[in-house]
Amino acid sequence: MGLETTSTAPPATHDLRNLVACTDCRLLKTLDQFKENGCENCDHHADPQTYTTSHFSGVTLVLDSSEKSWIAKRLDLDKRAIGMYALDIVKDDEAMGHEDDE
Ligand SMILES: [Zn+2]
Repeated sequence: MGLETTSTAPPATHDLRNLVACTDCRLLKTLDQFKENGCENCDHHADPQTYTTSHFSGVTLVLDSSEKSWIAKRLDLDKRAIGMYALDIVKDDEAMGHEDDE
């Protein structure tokens, strides 16, 4: 029973792999969540794949966006929905620099 281990990542880490970031406001959700609800900050109605990216670095959790925390200030999140946000979006042309055909 107890020997069934643990080469798998913990659930939180697994979930992070499924997250994508809105390229406009950096909100992090799964692609399915974006498909269902769109972005809480941006009024996107298109296919989420056109305005989200899986290429981001750093994650922060904004629990109270009315609080003038340094992280909210830094990310300019004071008017934005509570949730997880990427610290930085990696540009596609940077992230795709290792394609085989180049
Ligand atoms: Zn957004």
